[in-house]
Amino acid sequence: MSGRAPRVTKTEAIVIRQRRLGDADRIVTLLTPLRGKVDVVAKGVLRSKSRLAGHLEPLTHVEIVLAHGRSLDVVTQAQAVESFPALRGDLDRLSAALYLAELADRFTVEHADATGLFALLHAALVRLDRGDGQQVVTRMYELALLEATGFRPEWTRCLGCGVEVPADEARWSPLEGGVIGVECGARYPGALPIDATALRVLRAYQSLPYEEAGRVRLTDDLAARLEQIMHSLMRAVAERELKSAAFVSAARHARVAEETATAGLDEIRDDECAEAED
Ligand SMILES: [Zn+2]
Repeated sequence: MSGRAPRVTKTEAIVIRQRRLGDADRIVTLLTPLRGKVDVVAKGVLRSKSRLAGHLEPLTHVEIVLAHGRSLDVVTQAQAVESFPALRGDLDRLSAALYLAELADRFTVEHADATGLFALLHAALVRLDRGDGQQVVTRMYELALLEATGFRPEWTRCLGCGVEVPADEARWSPLEGGVIGVECGARYPGALPIDATALRVLRAYQSLPYEEAGRVRLTDDLAARLEQIMHSLMRAVAERELKSAAFVSAARHARVAEETATAGLDEIRDDECAEAED
């Protein structure tokens, strides 16, 4: 008999999602600052007496102790630090938060430092929970996530020639991640029109700190146009990068919220896509 204690790690984490493992266990996907995304096993959480269960719901900021396991680490202790109750009590905010977590999932790799991305997701959850404008929280998070992962979109200078493009003459390419001027249009036959006002807002968002970005006034219609542009961009970047080697590992987990409390939120998200900013 070896008296050796199992190796343990203590870390803070945000719970990204869970999926069932057998009758009583779950695999929990965590975003941690130092180890990036990790899948861990939570044993017995589907039993009524589980002390872990309430601390491992998706979108919980948790302090967790993990025992080193043969394939996956096993949760031995979990203590919720913040559970963001206001956010959970509002379906619009909840679906926005799940979307942010899904992006974190798609744009992080396993077992690699994610200090910056952890801070971004944490800040966005705090802002949604305290009732900040959902549009500005979401758009600023998307832009910061792209920047932090090396996919900063180019909203100002033409992708073809580097010359500044007037907003009302710009076209854009979601796949290439930026705007294209009139002179270079022929080289980007797939480029799309982009709303000039929406483009000006995106330029402002990219250059302003969060607090100032929140002062940009958005009509419902403009908010919907911004959302549509950013969703196209996030989808194009994720699909392109999922094909590259660095994201092979992320791809295995790139499916959205599975069977947990999140079931059905895809429909909700579609319904609220023109969410107003106030
Ligand atoms: Zn050009």
